Amino acid sequence: MKLVFASANPSKLREAAEILGDGFEIISAAEAGITEDIPETGNTFRANSLQKANYIYERTGMDCFADDSGLEVEILGGAPGVETARYSGPDRNPSRNIDKLLSEMARREREASAMREMGISTPHATRKARFRTAVVLILGGEKYFFDGTMEGSIARERHGEGGFGYDPVFYPEGLDKTSAEIPEDEKNAISHRGKALRAMAEFLNETKR
Ligand code: IMP
Repeated sequence: MKLVFASANPSKLREAAEILGDGFEIISAAEAGITEDIPETGNTFRANSLQKANYIYERTGMDCFADDSGLEVEILGGAPGVETARYSGPDRNPSRNIDKLLSEMARREREASAMREMGISTPHATRKARFRTAVVLILGGEKYFFDGTMEGSIARERHGEGGFGYDPVFYPEGLDKTSAEIPEDEKNAISHRGKALRAMAEFLNETKR
């Protein structure tokens, strides 16, 4: 079965092909003739993912899927959320994104401790966070939705050289290493995107039979 993945990111394409396995041919948006940037203007991961999958389907009529991911940080009330990629600005700079995340969290921690000193009861600052992925599959014109999350917490400083994005400051729950310090296959086994893609793969394998 041929599926267009609404992505131009080679490592995502490789991961999806590995997860889906034999019997599926995954091609990029560019290979399906879509070379322009696909708009992502939704307020939720699912809305963005749906927008990208619809974009491909409307132009190619091919079975396709899209993903959209981001980070939700408890002390920041769920931010950066859909702004994750461009948290520090439109150039999507991963290092500046991490700098902004750490400084926003430090600011909120200082605010919370100042409030406690004034006798105002406020919940203890937490560094809890989660990555979330929404996958939308369009198969024969029908839409299907798959989600995945990876719970964890935000480190106070960067650790590790692997991964991408916020990996150097994200400790997956139960690990004492950041997701930039573990091998790619170990991360894919527990990641938000891995979980959502495996849920889609399971569905596709059942549907094929
Ligand atoms: P996308 O929707 O997969 O492009 O993800 C949006 C943004 O979330 C990326 O640009 C990264 O900054 C961040 N992100 C998504 N998944 C991960 C991950 O597995 N590790 C670190 N950062 C991630």
